[in-house]
Amino acid sequence: MKIKKYLRNTGILLGAVLGLHFLNYAWMVGAQNICSRFSQRIETREQAQEVLQRESLRLGIPSEKQIHLVLDKREGSFSGASRVWKNIYRIDLTPSCFNESALVHELSHIAKGDVDSWAVSKNKHLRNFKYFFIQEPRATLYQIKRAISQ
Ligand SMILES: [Zn+2]
Repeated sequence: MKIKKYLRNTGILLGAVLGLHFLNYAWMVGAQNICSRFSQRIETREQAQEVLQRESLRLGIPSEKQIHLVLDKREGSFSGASRVWKNIYRIDLTPSCFNESALVHELSHIAKGDVDSWAVSKNKHLRNFKYFFIQEPRATLYQIKRAISQ
């Protein structure tokens, strides 16, 4: 009897956690796709650099932080930011993410220190929790805010 109750409660808790995780993931992916779809496409490296400068300034990213853009021409749907060295960062974009909105999203991760925290994080579970429930929603909300204000 007790084990049934335990299993039922565990099932409810697990279902709630998975449901919350799914909803959290779904709104972010949906919002990111919509923002990107209506965003200005990035056609050239010069244009990308111009957006990088303008949005870095807007986000208050200090000029000593060097950000290198990697525009990967192979097919794919990926954008990501990472720290290469102390003040050196890279942002990777693949063709379906060649737009201002995706770049703004990744710059936001750099501006808020998310990328720095990923580089030094030792606890994978804590890192994932912060990413899904704090850092990614924050970057997505900033992306939405910029999309609306343009
Ligand atoms: Zn992100």
